[in-house]
Amino acid sequence: MRRVSKDYNNPPAELIKCTEINEKELLEYKKVNGNCYKKAGKYLEELYLKKCAYCEQKYLANSDTWIEHYRPKSKENYYWLAYEWSNLIPTCTKCNRKKKANFPLINEPKRVKNPPLKNGKLNLKNCSADFADLINEQPFVLHPEIDEPEDCFDFQIDESKKGVKIVGKDILGRGNETAKLCDLNREDLKLDRQEKVIDKILEIIDFLFHCDLNGDMSNDDFVPLFSFIYQKLESDSENMALEHTLFRKSILPLSKFEEIVCPYIKNNKQREIIIKTYKKVCKN
Ligand SMILES: [Zn+2]
Repeated sequence: MRRVSKDYNNPPAELIKCTEINEKELLEYKKVNGNCYKKAGKYLEELYLKKCAYCEQKYLANSDTWIEHYRPKSKENYYWLAYEWSNLIPTCTKCNRKKKANFPLINEPKRVKNPPLKNGKLNLKNCSADFADLINEQPFVLHPEIDEPEDCFDFQIDESKKGVKIVGKDILGRGNETAKLCDLNREDLKLDRQEKVIDKILEIIDFLFHCDLNGDMSNDDFVPLFSFIYQKLESDSENMALEHTLFRKSILPLSKFEEIVCPYIKNNKQREIIIKTYKKVCKN
């Protein structure tokens, strides 16, 4: 998950129009017209670059955006937020199906149970995810447009040595709870992190040593080459069009690079050179 910036003051015009037409039915009968929130789909795709807000995987090329209601829209939950722009985020079907209508709170007594009304109509300002009453609920699930996922998540090599798992690191336990609720440690996802990030780095490292055909390059000879590679890793970690960018960012510091990438470099001499060189080129 990465932090995404969305303008809450300017929902898509189609969403506003559809909401106005369907609001009465929503408030009186708790009946949701699915066509309304689906009108936000293409705008969410643009903001999230066709990636799932929770797991950072691209949706399958042949599947539609699955629009997730951050706060569940079912009758016994937050039905009045069914068309709320700040409550809509794009997810893959796997994360969406796992999370379902689960929405545990740290501050359960503060749960908002009724729609905020003004003259019989929804008070839209008070429906926004950044409104104080909703913030005070302290949801366990992180909101990619409200919270900073970098403060709550870390990564480790999975105990099975097959893939990379995500772990929570915040005191309140929101990272761990989000990972659990959205199944962010499912087998295919752990492997995907390894294949698309670690294995690609290993390919580059392998290529680097192929440049040293005679094995007579000194450690210092590797520095300019590795400096270039580090810059690439750094820019990839901020390239939101790529998958797993939070993971990419997390392994940039020397300690994390040593912990997560280096164990996969099987040749001891090469591993030693990489660590020494990485120390010289990395910024933290
Ligand atoms: Zn997902």
